[in-house]
Amino acid sequence: MKASLYIVSTPIGNLNDISLRAIETLKTVDYIACEDTRLSQRLLNHFQIGTKLLSYHEFSDDTVADKLLSMVENGRNIALISDAGTPLISDPGYRLVNEAVSRDIQVIPIPGSCAFVAALSVSGLPSDRFSFEGFLPSKAGARQKTLERLKKAPQTLIFYEAPHRIIHCLKDMVDVFGGGREAVLARELTKTFETIKKFPLSELLAWVSSDANQQKGEMVILLKGYQVPEVESLNQEQEKLAKLLLEELPPKTVSKILSSHLGIPKKIVYQAILNLS
Ligand code: SAM
Repeated sequence: MKASLYIVSTPIGNLNDISLRAIETLKTVDYIACEDTRLSQRLLNHFQIGTKLLSYHEFSDDTVADKLLSMVENGRNIALISDAGTPLISDPGYRLVNEAVSRDIQVIPIPGSCAFVAALSVSGLPSDRFSFEGFLPSKAGARQKTLERLKKAPQTLIFYEAPHRIIHCLKDMVDVFGGGREAVLARELTKTFETIKKFPLSELLAWVSSDANQQKGEMVILLKGYQVPEVESLNQEQEKLAKLLLEELPPKTVSKILSSHLGIPKKIVYQAILNLS
């Protein structure tokens, strides 16, 4: 039989989430390519897998991919794993698989854990249409630009985020999507401090800001997609508030504040304000 490249998912926290087929594959291939040999060795030790590890990471150049694929072409079965979850999902492997496919090498998936799939499955947000956006840019300007591009996307939006950027990221999301957009934070999935919370964005920001524990660990943010607003204008209370603010601030600033606070699109608030004056 021709040798193959196996793309093997590993757990995202709880080691019991590994599949029987993943263990069997990792035991029987000739080599396992991984991001961090020390970390993956711990996983192999836990499951008493004696297969030799080779390094393949984000910064590996094409000669490493070429060497691995030449080994497969010469009859060696190789498995690719990442530090956690499914390889290629915000993890290395794309160039390797792309090259393998173009060299007509059989690539076999051994599916399993993936943080965003686990998060989506428990979020209570629509799962019939979604887009996985991976990590947002770390620089504020680029992050805001990316969010602006997604503002009117109707599908559920899924992001990975690093703990030290969670507050900045949620603040930008409130600015762009409005504080009323439904959001879910899924943190430390399958681990001891697993937390899944669903709030409107501004409440989620307030909750995460007020509890340092919520700013730790691994996290997925999910946002409900854009819904065509049913609100056509402001109610009496909201109009009163708008009038008060208009005494002190220009209409554009008032509509920005109210839109973010009430979760009503800026265009509608602005039109209502113009009608008031
Ligand atoms: N390949 C992985 C997968 O299949 O999900 C993702 C790897 S990516 C480098 C790491 C990011 O995935 C983390 O920063 C976090 O956003 C998310 N993640 C990984 N494990 C997680 C967990 N147990 N709970 C929540 N998010 C997790």
